[in-house]
Amino acid sequence: MLLDKLPRIRLGMLPTPLIEASHLSAVLGGPRIFIKRDDLTGLGLGGNKIRKLEFLMADAKAKGADTIITTGGSQSNHALQTAAVARQLGMDVLLILGRGIHPEMQGNQLLNKLLDAKVRIIENTLMDKIDEVLNSAAEELRQRGHKPYIIPMGGTTPLGDVGYVNAALEIYQQLKDQGVDIQRIFVTDGTGGTHAGLVVGIKYLEMPCQLIGISVSRNKDRLKSVVAGHAHEVVKLLGMEPSFSPDDITVYDDYIGEGYGIITDGCVEAIKLVAQTEGIFLDPVYTGKTMAGLIDFVRKGRLSSEDTVIFMHTGGQAALFVYADELVR
Ligand SMILES: *Cc1c(COP(=O)(O)O)cnc(C)c1O
Repeated sequence: MLLDKLPRIRLGMLPTPLIEASHLSAVLGGPRIFIKRDDLTGLGLGGNKIRKLEFLMADAKAKGADTIITTGGSQSNHALQTAAVARQLGMDVLLILGRGIHPEMQGNQLLNKLLDAKVRIIENTLMDKIDEVLNSAAEELRQRGHKPYIIPMGGTTPLGDVGYVNAALEIYQQLKDQGVDIQRIFVTDGTGGTHAGLVVGIKYLEMPCQLIGISVSRNKDRLKSVVAGHAHEVVKLLGMEPSFSPDDITVYDDYIGEGYGIITDGCVEAIKLVAQTEGIFLDPVYTGKTMAGLIDFVRKGRLSSEDTVIFMHTGGQAALFVYADELVR
């Protein structure tokens, strides 16, 4: 595997802790639950995009970029982490963000402001042709003598996703050190890049566990083929053999609710339960819905006290403040 040969800038505080949530398990009457604390990757407020940015920013630097352009929703965790990393590396940053349902100056928008990132809010309909929008922003910057580097939504490119192959290596070592066997890993699916990197890492390490993606936006058939496609690209980049078909990918789309960013009762319950049993905060857009899925698995008898699982905490807590009304309603 060529992972060690890829240019990388160390940005994250890695390895992130893998901790046992025994009080949560006891209250659920469910499996042993380990939480991989990728909310603690360090820069900005932490989160999963930092791992992707280690590889993406090394590429940007190598190409002589002085300005990073990226996109997401107005409360995008990815955009915030990208802006924080760009600042640490002395680069400018332009965020082109879809208005979404919470464009207020709170949460990640507030943090973007403190970072003095340039933010352009665009109408949600323009997000359908976001590639054009990003390319024309890059062209504008080039004409003014800058060297822009575009990072697509979620930092999901083969290079970015390699960050989660690396996370699989970390998890493998931590399980070995702690003498723990697991059967399942729960991960949130947004763009699917995190899932793709993990699935490649798990296959490479021959870990005998099932990776379960919980979608927060797209339907499962769409996501399965998207994740398999991304995984295929990662494999090519790393000079590896295995191939992936959509049937190799497990995704549940039962916990989305009305749509991306719209909170569900299960999500609110999950956020409160994890806070009140472990003192750990999940987020309202991603990890809260994934934990709602895990809890539902326990209640449906798909997970028992014989099982051991890992829950990937991919960050996003800044959005809690934006969802105050929904959370205390
Ligand atoms: C972006 C994000 C995800 C999803 O990651 P993808 O690689 O886009 O699937 C999950 N959780 C949080 C908190 C995120 O910000």
